Amino acid sequence: MQRRKLLQSVPGALCGLMPLGALADEFANAVKPAFRVPLPIAPVRAQPDRLIDLAVCTRPFRPQGPRIEAQPLHGKTVVHHYGHGGSGWSLSWGSAQPALPLVLATRERHIAIIGCGAIGLTTARVAQRAGLRVRIYCKERPPEVRSSAATGLWSPDSRLYSAEHATPAVAMEWEAMARASFKVWQSMLGLPGEPVAWHDGYVLSDIPFDQAQPATGTDAEPEYAELEDSIRDLRPQSVPLRPEEHPFKAPHVRRLTQMVFNLASYQRLLMEDFLREGGEIEQRDFLHARQIAGLRERTVVNCTGYGARALFGDKSIIPVRGQTARLIPQPEVDYALFWRGHNVAMVPRRDGLLVQAQGPHDFDNDDTRVDRALSEDAVRRLAEAFA
Ligand SMILES: Cc1cc2nc3c(=O)[nH]c(=O)nc-3n(C[C@H](O)[C@H](O)[C@H](O)COP(=O)(O)OP(=O)(O)OC[C@H]3O[C@@H](n4cnc5c(N)ncnc54)[C@H](O)[C@@H]3O)c2cc1C
Repeated sequence: MQRRKLLQSVPGALCGLMPLGALADEFANAVKPAFRVPLPIAPVRAQPDRLIDLAVCTRPFRPQGPRIEAQPLHGKTVVHHYGHGGSGWSLSWGSAQPALPLVLATRERHIAIIGCGAIGLTTARVAQRAGLRVRIYCKERPPEVRSSAATGLWSPDSRLYSAEHATPAVAMEWEAMARASFKVWQSMLGLPGEPVAWHDGYVLSDIPFDQAQPATGTDAEPEYAELEDSIRDLRPQSVPLRPEEHPFKAPHVRRLTQMVFNLASYQRLLMEDFLREGGEIEQRDFLHARQIAGLRERTVVNCTGYGARALFGDKSIIPVRGQTARLIPQPEVDYALFWRGHNVAMVPRRDGLLVQAQGPHDFDNDDTRVDRALSEDAVRRLAEAFA
């Protein structure tokens, strides 16, 4: 399948790092750069012994997209809000917008949210801004939540819908969510701790960008919907670079601009804002959905992510495993790197240079054990990118 081949061909995209649609389209529609000042590019100290943290997370992928709907259950109104695949951070603010009216319709002023990951925390902040009192119940909170293991890139259509479910109506809803999210992200630029920042990135390729890499994967991964074309205006297009304009060994290099979330400081910011506005957090592991009957609140927002599969019996959630690793921070490295066909991507986060590679069997895989060899190999490949 052509799409599948492309998935195998762009490391960032195949790792769930980059919105593949955006990348592919950018390659095809590059504009002539307005200026060509060569930038000094600090080399990455890509050595496996500089790895300081490895983490595994499962993207909560639903072929039909996130579940955002209300359901009477065990004497409560449960507003489901989960299933954001590889886009949970990017879409979080916009995705909370359609969930909010469902919450407000219950006319409860004190609500419960189950889950303290990307979706739970953001939904809580949106509810607080609407004047509600919120108590979060959760098994884990940051940094232990699965969301903490994400890459931290603006990737609003990554493993979010299968292509067959992306009807025009779905695409319109998605665009509204993506634009609303993007707007909020821009309001956080320049804040202390740099929760969000824009960085240049370089996409490397051994073959021209308009040629697809041969498929190498064995997973039965579906064709995902590519929706980013409708929001093309939100970020600059990529530009081709001449060999003297970069230090990389690959014959084909393009520069793009990418929004990066510094998840450590961003999660802390979310938590602080939530608590400052009267939010409460209660440690609770729900073993069965029946247990929500015992909660004080009558409106419960279900933001349990992949946890909804077990807790609410939603077997449509498919775990898509992903592993991230961090190298010791190098503040001078302020660019991202994606090496097409070499299964490695690097993102310049403030808490370390995040390195990602896709495993051979990530789809429908809920194994959260760390595979150190996978990340060490990715670091070695990263080192090879520098001439
Ligand atoms: C490798 C990787 C890279 C990614 N990169 C990006 C990226 O660059 N950009 C992006 O936008 N997205 C990215 N994603 C996707 C993103 O991480 C997810 O979409 C997002 O984390 C989902 O958040 P969540 O809040 O729904 O789930 P979670 O973070 O899993 O939070 C669920 C919460 O519910 C609680 N919970 C669950 N079950 C129970 C229970 N039974 N009782 C009590 N509490 C419970 C948990 O303790 C937790 O607090 C990536 C994902 C992976 C795997």
